[in-house]
Amino acid sequence: MLVYWWILLVFVIGAAVGSFLNVAISRLPLEKSLLWPSSRCGNCLQTIRCYDNLPLLSYLRLRGRCRNCGARFSIRYFIVELATGLGFAGLFYLEVVVNIHEWPNQRGAWAVQQGFFPIEWWLGFGYHAILFSLLMVVSMCDLDCFEIPIQVTLTGAALGLLGSLFFAWPWPWTPAQAVPFNVNMLNPWQVPQAGLKAGLQPWPLWGPLPQWLAPGGNWQTGLATAIAGGLAGTFLLRAIAFLAGKGLGKEAMGLGDADLMMMAGCFLGWQPVVIAFFVSAVPGLVFGALSLTLRKGSEIPFGPSLAVGLLGTMLSWRWIGPYVQPILFWDTLLLILAPACMIFMFVLTFLLRLAQR
Ligand SMILES: [Zn+2]
Repeated sequence: MLVYWWILLVFVIGAAVGSFLNVAISRLPLEKSLLWPSSRCGNCLQTIRCYDNLPLLSYLRLRGRCRNCGARFSIRYFIVELATGLGFAGLFYLEVVVNIHEWPNQRGAWAVQQGFFPIEWWLGFGYHAILFSLLMVVSMCDLDCFEIPIQVTLTGAALGLLGSLFFAWPWPWTPAQAVPFNVNMLNPWQVPQAGLKAGLQPWPLWGPLPQWLAPGGNWQTGLATAIAGGLAGTFLLRAIAFLAGKGLGKEAMGLGDADLMMMAGCFLGWQPVVIAFFVSAVPGLVFGALSLTLRKGSEIPFGPSLAVGLLGTMLSWRWIGPYVQPILFWDTLLLILAPACMIFMFVLTFLLRLAQR
């Protein structure tokens, strides 16, 4: 019974956060302050009263109009509040109620069934909810004006680095609790099984951990992993934008996408970010087709696809992780594979350019 109340509470908090995200989405691209002035009607400039500023409810009661002058507010405000509320509730349901990462439970099955979740689960969910909110803002800004505000991605990267100090792999386990196992005979190294499923920083920077980070679980490991993630995110996207730009002979991708991946890397580490880039191709094709038919423009924002790819990868890492581990921790293979992918990328875009002529 308590579980339903938690889901409702998380939904309400999400809608309230969405209300704040709306302010960020409408003000940041214009370089305005987030805190001052308070919310106003864009038409009559009248301050919106507190009781008309309730998420979701006020929009429904006033039918999306200003109480003072009757001007219509964009439906986007309502959609962002609803999507953030549902996103928070969905994330909470999957990560805490269903526990898809299989976070360890020191409280006992009965307590969890009654809705008394361990504090570590709440912290893990909260950390991911922050990432979700940041991705929501950058996606909406990218959809709205083809721009990813650097204030958001830099703040997000700082939050990710800060969190990494507390959520190092194999958090929330101590290294002694984590059970080692071998997954790859070619390049055997010991992954604590529990760490593989933690989902916050699902993997360390490298395995086996270098001497100066052993035995792991300390803030140094977390920070090193987050920095590696941020660097991997930004360099991967910048390299691809550069090569695709050379191949196509015109700008292929905004550098805001590189900042987005840098931010995500600071939260998740480098491996999920690299995999998420490839996963993003799936929502990318769907959004691309939709945007070409609906907007008739040639420019397609990539930010929302990256956000969907990142969240999907993060939530399914327990299933994806074991399959990609042999590749991602095999240094020789990576040294061959990375340049090969880069050359392939350049050739592919160059052929596209020839085909367009
Ligand atoms: Zn008004």
